[in-house]
Amino acid sequence: RYVLIAMGLTLGLASLYFMPGGIFVAGIKVQSALAVPIESSRSGRLGVLAIANSTLPNAPSREDINLLGSFGVQAAIAIGNAQLINQIEAQNAQLLEATQLKSQFLTNISHELRTPMNAIIGFSQVLLRQRKDPLTENQADMVERILRNGRTLLELINDILDLAKIESGRMDLQPENFHLDELIHHTCESLQPLASAKSLELSFQNHLGRVTAFHDPLRLRQILTNLIGNAIKFTDQGEVRVELRLADSPDQCLIAVHDTGIGIAPEHQKAIFEQFRQVDQSTTRKHSGTGLGLAITQQLVMMMQGKIYLQSELGKGSSFFVAFPLKGNYPD
Ligand code: ADP
Repeated sequence: RYVLIAMGLTLGLASLYFMPGGIFVAGIKVQSALAVPIESSRSGRLGVLAIANSTLPNAPSREDINLLGSFGVQAAIAIGNAQLINQIEAQNAQLLEATQLKSQFLTNISHELRTPMNAIIGFSQVLLRQRKDPLTENQADMVERILRNGRTLLELINDILDLAKIESGRMDLQPENFHLDELIHHTCESLQPLASAKSLELSFQNHLGRVTAFHDPLRLRQILTNLIGNAIKFTDQGEVRVELRLADSPDQCLIAVHDTGIGIAPEHQKAIFEQFRQVDQSTTRKHSGTGLGLAITQQLVMMMQGKIYLQSELGKGSSFFVAFPLKGNYPD
């Protein structure tokens, strides 16, 4: 019986004209029209909904008025919801873009920093090694400091680059089959000099014998280097013991790194996995480091479908555990 003549978010109903001879819609005279506000208590007044009848005068009945009135309320609620969803979507998109921009920025900066850092490290090494024009003791001492600090900076840059890649989802894993026991053995071997320098015993107990795993071996090595490196760094006396055994769940293995070091108080045990978090935040810190190692380690473990947790007692030592499936699941 009716034609919808206008539904708009503004009161300016462009197609509805009230003229001395009657109401006109697009040039056609209408006999009766009904307009209701599009409004709800939450949304407020959003617009007007109008219908017209071109044949019957006084057409809208009480029922029609009620019906259109409640339609106006429903329309307001629907429009309000749609606007809210649009708003949320826009905010999400903005947030995503900001995160991606940040990651891209960090990636670019890190690349730009890495090249000169490698030059500083490389040439410091050349200066220290060359025999033709030997450095004085004082000079050698200074160049050694340049080298040490250069390496620390490079480590930080690499860590930031890794985190940026993980955050932006651009960390590509290269999974392959490898001997897990061998990888742990070699990682321990490469860290042996660090342990020996502190007179710590570094041992590897393999309860599984030969095991093949399917994961990214370089990234697993990075995880282990972080954990064993920390164990050595935060232990002054005693030992660091690495263990490989089966985890409680089937087809899962467990790598444990135990130390007899300073330990971590219960209130700090969660926070140390956050970026840049270190238990000792003072500027007179005894131990160097970026505070990014465990954040990266945790992310990498999660990408291997594994989990990382720890047990520790202040002053007695810490044990970090990484449990993960032997055969990782990776998209092609
Ligand atoms: P970094 O070692 O560069 O400071 P990490 O993210 O690897 O950063 O570790 C964060 C913090 O967790 C360390 O600064 C230290 O306070 C604590 N931590 C990590 N491993 C150990 C450990 N084996 N024993 C005691 N404290 C540890």
